[in-house]
Amino acid sequence: MEVWFTELQSPELKISCKVRQTLHREMTPFQEIVVLDTEQFGRMLVLDGAIQTTIADEFVYHEMLAHVPICSHDDPKDVLIIGGGDGGCAREVLRHQQIASVTQVEIDQRVVEVSRRFLPELACSFDNPRMSVNFEDGIAFVRDKEACYDVILVDAPDPVGMAAGLFSQEFYESLYRALRPDGIFAAQTESPFFNKDLIERVYGAISSTFPVTRLYLANVPTYPSGLWSFTIGSKKNDPAQGARSGCPLVASLADQGLRYYTPEAHRAAFMLPSFVQALLK
Ligand code: SAM
Repeated sequence: MEVWFTELQSPELKISCKVRQTLHREMTPFQEIVVLDTEQFGRMLVLDGAIQTTIADEFVYHEMLAHVPICSHDDPKDVLIIGGGDGGCAREVLRHQQIASVTQVEIDQRVVEVSRRFLPELACSFDNPRMSVNFEDGIAFVRDKEACYDVILVDAPDPVGMAAGLFSQEFYESLYRALRPDGIFAAQTESPFFNKDLIERVYGAISSTFPVTRLYLANVPTYPSGLWSFTIGSKKNDPAQGARSGCPLVASLADQGLRYYTPEAHRAAFMLPSFVQALLK
């Protein structure tokens, strides 16, 4: 008998993956967590029916969410990650040896525990001495922070329920206050094909808060439409100019084992097709 997992990507579109094995399933106080072993993408983390990450394509999302803003900052030392309980984003941040501290705020402790058990390739950095993890709401956590971080990464799920506030004007204003004067943040901002209204709204809200706002793209096969957007708010540097000269990660790229991020991919990600540019007017 064949078993298939189907994600309802929009009311009119479903994507199905053939499942080898269901490895884990539980309801937490926050959400349903499922880990599947799929034929096409390997292990897959699914929260409330939505694919969060898979072993086959996670490197695209995590490398681009982390390295584009970090490599754009002149001297990043302290990083805050909001969400990201699978650990993939933290793994990428900690490749940067000049980063002294990574604070992660994940609302659901079970996502971290389940990822440690079933997705060790991603959740390999939680014991790193530079890393600390807080289990609480990232929106509340950041509300009273002032000039504490150089880089903030928002590794959020879709903008519904407890994650909806991670896409709000009030939240972006909190991020602005929490960043130092040359700070920069990046957030995943969904599909330019399926989430046009959201991208327009988020880009407008970030533009009204940060002097530099940029959207960039990467291809993530398991996310709706495959074309994925990230939006940056920066207080100083323009990330579309590329990695800063002398960025230690770029200097040691050959030793890092990265599979997507290069200085060329960084610059190219900001070259937007015209239908995406039209969303930013
Ligand atoms: N890469 C993924 C994507 O684009 O779908 C996101 C992955 S990561 C697993 C998202 C995490 O954000 C989840 O573990 C979820 O528990 C967490 N989360 C949701 N709302 C949150 C909030 N308000 N504060 C902190 N973490 C939150």
